[in-house]
Amino acid sequence: MRRAVLTGPGRFEIFDVALPVVARDEVLVRVAACGVCSSELPAFAGDAGEYPRSIGHEVSGTVVEVGLEVTGLSPGDPVGCWVTSHGFAEFVAVKGAWCFPAGGVPLDEALAEPLANAVNAVEETDVRLGDDVVLIGAGFMGNLVQSLVALRGPRQLIVADTRPDALARAAELGATRVVDVRAESLAEVVAAATGGRGADVTFEATGAQGALDVVGETTRMSGKVVLVGFHQGEARRINLAHWNWMAFGIVNAHYRDVDTIMRGMAVGMRLLTAGRLSLAPLVSHRFPLDRINEAFETARAKPEKFVKAVVTM
Ligand SMILES: [Zn+2]
Repeated sequence: MRRAVLTGPGRFEIFDVALPVVARDEVLVRVAACGVCSSELPAFAGDAGEYPRSIGHEVSGTVVEVGLEVTGLSPGDPVGCWVTSHGFAEFVAVKGAWCFPAGGVPLDEALAEPLANAVNAVEETDVRLGDDVVLIGAGFMGNLVQSLVALRGPRQLIVADTRPDALARAAELGATRVVDVRAESLAEVVAAATGGRGADVTFEATGAQGALDVVGETTRMSGKVVLVGFHQGEARRINLAHWNWMAFGIVNAHYRDVDTIMRGMAVGMRLLTAGRLSLAPLVSHRFPLDRINEAFETARAKPEKFVKAVVTM
């Protein structure tokens, strides 16, 4: 079978390797697609880590072999799953407990792992009926959070970004107001929309300093600031005296605990397979395994209309 391995900055190479051995608690999955995650872009760009690296964790596919201790899964089952590595390959061994039924969802849209993060962000924040919600960043994770917040029934869902195509997509997904922050002040728009009170919740889904500068101005006293963006690189600055005075509840929507991740995946896949949620408008770019370098270059360059790239097998 073939597996793509990151052998150096900006360079995946494809190797022929043996099929993974399936442990008693694992299944062998014939991979249909593996999502390209922003968290993997620093490795591709050449951060300080070591090479070679077998990355890829947003896997979907079909079960082909079931370990002795695994119950509830059979060969032929379509699943969305989480692996910690080796996802950009034709086959991968995965814990049975980390696989969730994908039903009739197209497998290149059954990306359980990013969905889990968005589900957990919204669940932990506990967006309430009638809340005024601000979302900064209308990329893939922002779009997922927006779609899930909409299921909770907010009063207003105000989405900010700098890219016209991202704002158009946010409007299509049901934003009550979109704000191009190059042309308008988000803080002023939110103040006007909430009678000067501020939003009950602000989700920051950019991973950039600029958004952190604004969230303190869009959130009401005792409201919630939610960090969905993956903050890498230079240390960020926040106006902690202001955040402290405003009594913000702060949700760090970054999950490491496996039980929490699995709970988010289960909920996300239930919504996906029931048709309550769809990634169809979000998976914008598909690349076969032998073009994986192009997939990562595209995810890094984020051309117009780019939302999410997947590598298909
Ligand atoms: Zn990911």
